[in-house]
Amino acid sequence: MILRDDCAALDEADEISDLRAEFRLNSGEIYLDGNSLGPVTHAASRRVNEVINVEWAKGLVRSWNAAGWMAEPTTLGDRLAPLIGAQPGEVLVADTLTFFLAKLIGGALDLRADRHVVLTDVANFHSDIYIVEAMARRAGRPMVVKAIDRSALEKELSDDVALVMLTHVDFRTGEMLDMKGITKQVHDAGALMLWDFAHSAGAVELDVTGCDVDFAAGCGYKYLNGGPGAPAFLYVRERWQGVLENPLPGWLGHARPFNFELTYEPAQGMQAFVTSSPSVIALAALGGALEVWEHATMAQVRAKSLALTDMFITLVEDRLPGVFEVVTPREHHKRGSQVALRHAEGYGIIQALIERGVIGDFRDPDICRFGFAPLYVRYVDVYDAVERIVEVMTSEMYRDERFSQRKPVT
Ligand SMILES: *Cc1c(COP(=O)(O)O)cnc(C)c1O
Repeated sequence: MILRDDCAALDEADEISDLRAEFRLNSGEIYLDGNSLGPVTHAASRRVNEVINVEWAKGLVRSWNAAGWMAEPTTLGDRLAPLIGAQPGEVLVADTLTFFLAKLIGGALDLRADRHVVLTDVANFHSDIYIVEAMARRAGRPMVVKAIDRSALEKELSDDVALVMLTHVDFRTGEMLDMKGITKQVHDAGALMLWDFAHSAGAVELDVTGCDVDFAAGCGYKYLNGGPGAPAFLYVRERWQGVLENPLPGWLGHARPFNFELTYEPAQGMQAFVTSSPSVIALAALGGALEVWEHATMAQVRAKSLALTDMFITLVEDRLPGVFEVVTPREHHKRGSQVALRHAEGYGIIQALIERGVIGDFRDPDICRFGFAPLYVRYVDVYDAVERIVEVMTSEMYRDERFSQRKPVT
């Protein structure tokens, strides 16, 4: 039996517990939705203020040069690179995730022009499926997109397959895939591999270099806390730079944007994947949010994430036996940083919990999702959250009429 005092002792011993103070959190509230929208850091707030009130207000147009605005997409990319195991010069921050997926898919299909099949996961996020289908239709040759059950991947791989696109941590179940093993299988079949890191970056240890990943992209606003609609990041392995073409070229990806030449010539390196002017205020928020990672290693974050999710699963099963189905895998190597609980009344349960100050979210048709971001979630938060889940379930307050009205964002 886990006691609240045991949790408090774990917080006391936690090497990264101080980092919670870097975040602005509402008192009395337990935030378990950093996998959807990370909270504001003081540094993000400070950086946005500085950009607006100094660089923009005083520097005006001069700041494109003087404040390094133009270089922000690659500067931030280099700061983010260690979080995914990339080398400097392999990561870019701009756009949003679906746009980056479009660029990578479009470019990759040209690199395997003799092949006509793209494989993805039928359980993938809908946006990923829309964009891969749309890019395949525009490939300049007939393509087939197969959204398969991912357990059938090996069987589906053949020398017709140009590209495999998978999300590394399943957004519903929290299952983490074997990045190294799958990437190798895909390469052995002569295909290219694109990973979506939306639920991985800032949540689990990633080693794109060691896993020989070709391409990846991920979100800035989930575990990286860059703010609502924050710019995303793009990874292109060094060997593909100068080879992979950006299918959405724009002036700022040109080798000489201020020569106003009418013939497109891509810039060197990751700059070639820039299309438009950087969104400087949004980049400032993400840049500020990344400061906290200078004080924690991914290994520390991952160890705490597994301890928090283990504890949550144990407490839910001890306190509410048989009430929820724990959908998230128990095996550590198969788990991201969230726990998904299945219940037919999931929507009402999440709404009732939000009213009681435990913020999780709901994913159709029956998944209650709880994200554990170790930079600010404490062990006592896990204990207290389960306490409130027990109250909601035993009182059956989730059945109340007011919790059944679906809001546009669940
Ligand atoms: C959150 C998420 C997205 C969102 O993409 P945006 O274009 O940045 O809104 C896409 N794919 C997956 C797997 C996600 O989890």
